Order: sequence, then structure tokens, then C-alpha cells
Amino acid sequence: MTARTLLLALSRRSTIGATMDRWPMTRRLVRRFVAGRTADDALRVIADLDARGFMTAVTYLGENVVTPADAEAATATYAALVDEIARRRLRCLPSLKLTHLGFDLSDALCERHLTQLLERGAAAGIRVWIDMEGSSYTQRTLDLYARMRARYANAACVVQSYLRRTPADVERLVELGATVRVCKGAYQEPPALAYPDKRDVDTAYGRLVERLLADDARAAGVYPGFATHDERLQRHVVGMARARGAPRDAWEIQMLFGIRHDLHARLAADGIPLRVLVPYGEDWYGYFMRRLAERPANLVFLLRNLIRN
Ligand SMILES: Cc1cc2nc3c(=O)[nH]c(=O)nc-3n(C[C@H](O)[C@H](O)[C@H](O)COP(=O)(O)OP(=O)(O)OC[C@H]3O[C@@H](n4cnc5c(N)ncnc54)[C@H](O)[C@@H]3O)c2cc1C
Repeated sequence: MTARTLLLALSRRSTIGATMDRWPMTRRLVRRFVAGRTADDALRVIADLDARGFMTAVTYLGENVVTPADAEAATATYAALVDEIARRRLRCLPSLKLTHLGFDLSDALCERHLTQLLERGAAAGIRVWIDMEGSSYTQRTLDLYARMRARYANAACVVQSYLRRTPADVERLVELGATVRVCKGAYQEPPALAYPDKRDVDTAYGRLVERLLADDARAAGVYPGFATHDERLQRHVVGMARARGAPRDAWEIQMLFGIRHDLHARLAADGIPLRVLVPYGEDWYGYFMRRLAERPANLVFLLRNLIRN
């Protein structure tokens, strides 16, 4: 079992999070990836990034809620965030998980919540970005996205390059003129569904960049967001966008708060459109464990400090 597999398996054991929350060392490392516990903490970070010329996205952490009340509370929090983003005129948007809005409870409940947020966003000229979760949700998420996209131009979705099915999904999204983020994928998936070899995931990502920046995709209204900290792939995006003559307002690079901040200034200096996703909230465990799984060095750092403490 690799460190990645182990961490992703542990990421579904939320009781471990409650224990980890008591360790000051973990809390410090969590703060590297999570802007804080409250919306005010996140909005402070977002306002600072905005002032430095970066676009942002905000995630109120949470997933797989099991009661309608929790799904409603998450929706209300996102609605308040949309209002605050509009009030402060931030170049920010919500990026959310459908299971936080009640996807595990029922499609209808989740759709109702998502519709509320899309309507609120549309009135304020703000996109709502629907994250992609594990593969058991892929089809349902894309189906819901397609239904929403027909009514709301501000709906945006995500595909994961590690999934073997993604090139076919992307063809459907091109037809819809979708706003779509490409990421590598952060969940534990079986080899039948996802490439186990990282090189294949990276190659697949490169091909998706080419597809989504193709002339016919742009003509169909596709707006791609390329979410990666991989410098080689970022260079591929920039080179491809330039080669295809895609203007700077027709695509963007996206990165996560706390990861490769050193790249921000360089991208800005080159005039590359960059959006930084800023997560906040108490329910940091699943998100944090996926970030640890992406980079074993993070785990080594955590263990070294735990032993020292
Ligand atoms: C804006 C954004 C939104 C995302 N949304 C989703 C989503 O909806 N669904 C989903 O499944 N996944 C999502 N992801 C996560 C994504 O799938 C990858 O797991 C993650 O981005 C790591 O892949 P990478 O492209 O950065 O490349 P990698 O090859 O993993 O990393 C490239 C380099 O980036 C740095 N790096 C990457 N991750 C870390 C880390 N955790 N800690 C420290 N350094 C790191 C390292 O220097 C590494 O060498 C999102 C990622 C981003 C940036």
C-alpha cells in the first residue's frame, strides 16, 4: 500500500480528524492549506489576493452531509458568501461540493439548493463552480451540470484527467459550451476507472488542455480553468493558449491556497490569468488528507513535527 492510498483511505475516517484537531502541530499544518475557521478569515485572504491582482474562489469546507439541515446550512453559508462577494466587488466565486448540498440525501434536494445558489450568482454576475468528487458521483454530477447549464450560463463544472472516461465527457461538455475546470483528480479510484500511473494522468491532462483550447471548443463557448501546480503543465497551457490565439479572458490557471505560492508572482508578471482557491471552515479533515496524499513530503513534515513534540 502506498502512502497516497493509505492517506486517501484514512481521509474517509472523519473520527481521526476529531483527534487530530486536538494536536497543535496538525492545526498548524492545516492552517497552511486552510485560510481559517470563519468566512471572515477567508474573505481577508481573498481581499488580499484580489488587491494583488488575482482572481479567487472560495470553498466552505464540508462534504457528504447526512441531514437535510446540514445541507441547508451549507447552502445558506454559500448564499451569504455570494452576497458578500458581490457587496465587496471581489473577483471571486464559490467552488462547492454537491455532497455538501445534500447529494447523498437526494438529487432533488441537492438540485434545489444548487438552483438557489445559481440564481443568486446569476443576479450578481457570479459563476458557481461545482467541484468533482469520487467516481461514484461523476455521472450524476455531470448530468446535473448539463441540466443546470441549460438554464444557468454561470454554472461551471470539473473533470479529472485520471479518469479513463474523461475525454468522452469532455466532448459532451464542448457541445454544451461548458465552463469547465480540468484537474488531475484527488480521490482513490480503482485502475479500471482511473490511470494508476501518474505519467498517464499527466499525459491525459495535456491532451485535455489541447482539446479545451481548440478553436471549435472556444467557438462553442467553452471557458476552461486549468487547475494544477504542475509547472510543466502550466507552461503547456500557456503555450497552447498562445498558439491558438486564445485571449487572456478566455481561460485561466487555477491553484490552491497554500501550494506553490512562489509561482503566483511569476504567472502575474507574465500576464497569465490566475485564480486561487481559498478553503475555510471547521470541516477540514477530508480536504487536508487529500492534500497530504498529493505530496508525501507533507506527511513526512507532519510526522517529524509530531515526533519532535
Ligand atoms: C483550483 C483547484 C481545484 C481543484 N478541484 C478539484 C476537484 O474538484 N476535484 C478533484 O478531484 N480534485 C481537485 N483538485 C485537486 C487536483 O485534482 C490534484 O489532486 C492537485 O491539484 C494536485 O495535482 P497537481 O495538478 O497540482 O499536480 P502534481 O503533479 O500532484 O503536483 C505538481 C507539483 O505541485 C506541488 N503540489 C501539488 N500538490 C501539493 C500538495 N498537496 N502540497 C504541496 N505541494 C503540492 C508539488 O510541488 C508538486 O510537485 C483541485 C486542484 C486545484 C488546484
